[in-house]
Amino acid sequence: MKRHNFSAGPCVLPGSVLQKASEAVINFDNGLSLLEISHRSKPFVDIMENARALALELLGLEGKGYKALFLQGGASTQFLMVALNMLEKRAGYLNTGTWSDKAIKEARIYDDIYEVASSKDANYNYIPKGYDIPSDYDYFHCTSNNTIFGTQMKEFPNAPIPMVCDMSSDIFSRQLDFSKFDIIYAGAQKNMGPAGTTLVVIKEDVLGKVSRKIPSMMDYKVHISKSSMFNTPPVFAVYTSMLTLEWLKGLGGISAIEKENEKKAQLIYSEIDLNPLFKGFATKADRSTMNATFTLANEDLKETFETMVKEAGINGLNGHRSVGGYRASMYNALTLESVGVLVDVMSELERKA
Ligand code: PMP
Repeated sequence: MKRHNFSAGPCVLPGSVLQKASEAVINFDNGLSLLEISHRSKPFVDIMENARALALELLGLEGKGYKALFLQGGASTQFLMVALNMLEKRAGYLNTGTWSDKAIKEARIYDDIYEVASSKDANYNYIPKGYDIPSDYDYFHCTSNNTIFGTQMKEFPNAPIPMVCDMSSDIFSRQLDFSKFDIIYAGAQKNMGPAGTTLVVIKEDVLGKVSRKIPSMMDYKVHISKSSMFNTPPVFAVYTSMLTLEWLKGLGGISAIEKENEKKAQLIYSEIDLNPLFKGFATKADRSTMNATFTLANEDLKETFETMVKEAGINGLNGHRSVGGYRASMYNALTLESVGVLVDVMSELERKA
């Protein structure tokens, strides 16, 4: 049976990428597995360089003073690295959900972080707007897409200070002026590849302004000076990310996938709005094109709906415990057809009920 994978991450990847990645595990270079060759060998150095260049190219940041790194420790390690590398006196954070909250918690180890605004009052079902960003702070941090709550920033402030953005769950999904940001980070396991590496894109000239000593593994400058090879990189995750970035480039890049992502989002949200059996969680204006969160209006239908979902080959639809209900994650590799299958199940439930 065909599976439709709505998992929030790790999640669906393009079939062609999985095929090539699995072949490389068996035989990458003259009978040797990708997992057996030195990360210092030319074939792997080429992979790393290609992945770094593709990331910048797709984001439109080539030749603009940015460097791309593939690091380890997940996006969660970036919560700490951003603070270590950028925080001298004070930083401002926009709190739009669990992941922003965690970023704030880590940065608070070093400073009494200022929350420029928060949507915690409504269990993060909206994106705060109209807040001020103090011009004498070291940086402003935001989360572009809130994976758990299904909200997404549609506009970004013109911050008078460096902008740092956690784009873990919507990087490469929509066209933005990425040059607005000084540091962008994203765990690979949504739109880019398997878990195990984190893309960090840094405008080099924002670094070197803090007085603290930074441990080598935490220091962006060290990783940049070693071309993202300061220590043994996660070779499989970097290779598979490179394949996914090549796949995206082959489709026509971010602007091409954005059109598909908009179609998918439109299909699911119109069903949520028209079908009286379902209620959307996020405020309409702030709805995410990546993660659609919704609940059943009548919990008595839970078992029937979930059985139908399972029978349709749909996987990974459960909502996060802090929201409940359901979450349809529609990352780049999920097809419009899969969203159609889910929408058919939802309308079939309405006919049955
Ligand atoms: N930020 C966002 C927006 C996320 O969705 C996640 C993970 N789902 C994280 C950070 C944490 O990522 P990791 O598990 O790679 O540390």
